[in-house]
Amino acid sequence: MPENGTFDELGLPPALQAAIADLGFTTPSAIQAQAIPALLGGRDIVGVAQTGTGKTAAFGLPLLAAIDYDIPAVQAIVLTPTRELAMQVADAIQSFATHLPGLNVLAVYGGSPFLPQQRALARGAQVVVGTPGRVLDHLERRTLKLDQVRFLVLDEADEMLRMGFAEDVDKVLSAAPRERQVALFSATMPPQIRRVAEQHLNRPVEITVSRQASTVTSVRQTYAVVPHRHKTGALARVLAVSEADAAIVFVRTRGAAEEVGSALIERGISAAYISGDVAQTEREKIVDRLRTGALDVLVATDVAARGLDVDRIGLVVNFDVPREPEIYVHRIGRTGRAGREGEALSFVTPAEQSRLRQIERTTRQSLLQVDIPSPAEVSAHRVQALLARTGARAELDRLDLYREAIAVHMAQNPDVDPFELLAVLTALSVGDEGPVAVQGDDLDDALSRAHLTGGGRERDGERSYDRPERGERRRADTHIAGGSPRWRVAVGHRDGLQPGALVGALTGEGGLTGKDVGKIDIFGSFALVDIPDGLSADVIDRLARTRVAGRPLRIRLDSGPRPGHGASRPTHGPARGRS
Ligand code: AMP
Repeated sequence: MPENGTFDELGLPPALQAAIADLGFTTPSAIQAQAIPALLGGRDIVGVAQTGTGKTAAFGLPLLAAIDYDIPAVQAIVLTPTRELAMQVADAIQSFATHLPGLNVLAVYGGSPFLPQQRALARGAQVVVGTPGRVLDHLERRTLKLDQVRFLVLDEADEMLRMGFAEDVDKVLSAAPRERQVALFSATMPPQIRRVAEQHLNRPVEITVSRQASTVTSVRQTYAVVPHRHKTGALARVLAVSEADAAIVFVRTRGAAEEVGSALIERGISAAYISGDVAQTEREKIVDRLRTGALDVLVATDVAARGLDVDRIGLVVNFDVPREPEIYVHRIGRTGRAGREGEALSFVTPAEQSRLRQIERTTRQSLLQVDIPSPAEVSAHRVQALLARTGARAELDRLDLYREAIAVHMAQNPDVDPFELLAVLTALSVGDEGPVAVQGDDLDDALSRAHLTGGGRERDGERSYDRPERGERRRADTHIAGGSPRWRVAVGHRDGLQPGALVGALTGEGGLTGKDVGKIDIFGSFALVDIPDGLSADVIDRLARTRVAGRPLRIRLDSGPRPGHGASRPTHGPARGRS
């Protein structure tokens, strides 16, 4: 963004310029280019800017420049509407202060114990970021004094007023010394905010910027419906087939970061996890490893990922859908950087669909539904990656030892087909058990069920034939309760099974008539079919060897749901009439 100049031109002290360089910020955003010089020049400002525009650095950097680090007293106050934002802003300011030893930033917010905050204040925090109510509490208890305050920020002012903090904000501003600077940021400018500005700000410079459209548009936004307990398995598959150089996985809590991160590491993925309580130096080390390629996947909480700017990140996975659309915008801004393409994939549980719509309204873009890759796709991807490396390896040569070993093996096993041997060697190199993963069935069945109960958001027309009407589902339940024999075949959606193909096999190879075949329910890796009059041993034998969609049917009487699996609850099926 050459029109915004460079950071060198903004007049920031060297320690802050060094921090910006550490964070990887190269050019100022529009709000930074305008707000930083004005604030450094001592002016008040009103910034009409949303999250994602870089407004935190726009006020955070001049705020730090205004502080005297030798004085152990509160000199700057930032008010934010929520506890989450308070933590994020405090974290961001701390990240700008890495070259300012002795500078302490403290977040104070409601809902957490008073005493630790009181002690930290007594130790001499110079910057306090907090929610208006808790800041006022500290003021009233005299655990926070404003006499040395020279810089005040109202972040997301419209949001604070909407949440009923008008009076608290007013009291804090009135309690601060008159010789002070105020920066007010708001996404919108209703008359109420104008009044606050008129009353408390001194001839403010007004700066309006629109959200950087590029943050959102260079990122392909997708979602997949994944039941909660299958998210880790689904994530491992997504990462296995992703073309992105590096990925960041967002989780909501510290516990989840550890759990998901550890699970990925256990699966041999080059991953690490961080949360807000990881020390700054440790965090920097991890981010450096991500930047240099020593690490490919970072699992992080929102607070920990604040300010993270690594060009290699081509994929953002929202393991949990963020509660607020603004957080979503922040998260997906981690990818699609430096003019690159990025993808953001959000896992939603079937119950979370309404959050998606909220996000779509905020970003004004619709999210495209995608499927979690099947075990077959994961294996195929691994094979392709392996084959792609063969050319370079062949060039290197030094293959004599292997040629000889194969010659000996072939001589000893003259019946072995070389192609078959190649396939086995490829499978061994890929290192999986083939397309059927250990827990494949569970995950795939759950995914196809979630997909189909996902609230009518499938891609156009796809799989529409098997969408159940409510009535149909009820009918099916009654049907099972009635105890009519259901048969299970080992072919499902994943293999591209269509109901017609199954009926064809049952009537063609099995010698049944159309009337013998009842309702069909197709799941991820298997299907259930009603055959009320049963099958003779002879027919079972013939059908066992029959292939449909390229796979053996392996028909057998269905033994009902597996524990905790609910397989007999059909989620879809064309409800073939038994006419
Ligand atoms: P904000 O609007 O302050 O929440 O910032 C949005 C995101 O953009 C934050 O994660 C910042 O780390 C990042 N950011 C802010 N300024 C810049 C910049 N000049 N260059 C690159 N990234 C930035």
